[in-house]
Amino acid sequence: MSQLQKALLTASLLFLGLNGCGGTGGQEAPMASTRQGVALAPPPPPGCLPESPDTDQDGICDGVEAILGTHPDSSDTDGDRLSDYAEAYGLDGVDLPSLGANPRRKDLFVEVDYYPGFLPAQTTLDRVISAFTTAPVSNPDGSTGVSLHLMVDEQISAADADQDLDPVWTEFDLIKAKYFEASRAPFFHYMLLANQHSGGTASGSSRGIPGHDFVVTLGFAGGGTALQLAGTLMHELGHNIGLRHGGNDNAHFKPNYLSIMNNEYQLHGFTMGGVPNVLDYSRVRIASFNEATINEVAAFTPVAPTTEADLALIGGLRFNNRLVIGNASANLSFNANFVIEATSYALDLNHNGAKNNVFPASQNDWQALVYDGAGEIGDSQLGALRSLSRESAFLVAPDKMEPCLTVEPDRTP
Ligand SMILES: [Zn+2]
Repeated sequence: MSQLQKALLTASLLFLGLNGCGGTGGQEAPMASTRQGVALAPPPPPGCLPESPDTDQDGICDGVEAILGTHPDSSDTDGDRLSDYAEAYGLDGVDLPSLGANPRRKDLFVEVDYYPGFLPAQTTLDRVISAFTTAPVSNPDGSTGVSLHLMVDEQISAADADQDLDPVWTEFDLIKAKYFEASRAPFFHYMLLANQHSGGTASGSSRGIPGHDFVVTLGFAGGGTALQLAGTLMHELGHNIGLRHGGNDNAHFKPNYLSIMNNEYQLHGFTMGGVPNVLDYSRVRIASFNEATINEVAAFTPVAPTTEADLALIGGLRFNNRLVIGNASANLSFNANFVIEATSYALDLNHNGAKNNVFPASQNDWQALVYDGAGEIGDSQLGALRSLSRESAFLVAPDKMEPCLTVEPDRTP
């Protein structure tokens, strides 16, 4: 039994003690009811009476919040845009606790539907889940990481599986309206594993940055290898949670940005502590970098709290689509000639023809994630923390169409 389950049981027993009856009704997890499409306030959970103080008005009274270990003055203790109530008891027919939600640890839910022939292997999904599990993100329960729930749901029927998804979001909406349960909209991102989109050979697309919809389309590459699929999934999901190709800017191939969001790494990942092809968003901050004065011996410069030791753990770096020797801290062969040059030189690293680009310092992605899906993720029990009405349509217009990487032949020797 998890700590959360124990806390919920304690709260249920407390409820039995309070009202003196045992047996009928009260101990079951409350479920919200709806009538004619209007969301009603969910019932108070076991241990709370309608008149019990509820400082943050999230539906859980202060006394039970103390038992659960959630904040009585925040409706979203862990800051993942899923209310404490929804994570502890479920809401509007979506049973988040049975799906693994924890109000004291960040959770990210993604419904995954797939075209015939595109069912992803669990081991592939686990590569991305592992990246989130080991993320440098702290939680109120004392754990680190983010619980990513990639929930494979349904196969799209052959008749519905539009092969070119062109225009992508128009075709996508037809499928989403049929295969995605609208009650999940305040809690779930929606991902479609399809053949291709927009009639081209792009590997995927996010509907906005941040957003709540994305497609992964490696049909032109035979569905991609497990690594390509996992990397592309994590890349597009990254856009959904607020990351750009340069992290906090739109720079492409930004050499001092070590993230799966940088197209150099989308299909490859990094070597971390000697393990190759590890998927990760940037977990370090690196100082601004000038293509005109590349120093292979010194490599990159950390920005606190990142240290040289942190950078030294990151290898498998790539420039101009070539894997190079060295690590982010030292002896890094930017020109991929397998020799560490003693003198500095200029080199085009962002594929634009110039050798004098200066790239601003890069961010730690994990500290910059956006969990609200551009306002769509977040339920009614967030109260004042939810800026948009949950009644807003879940099929919203894209704020930016972002085609992402077209896979090119790997030039790595
Ligand atoms: Zn992208």
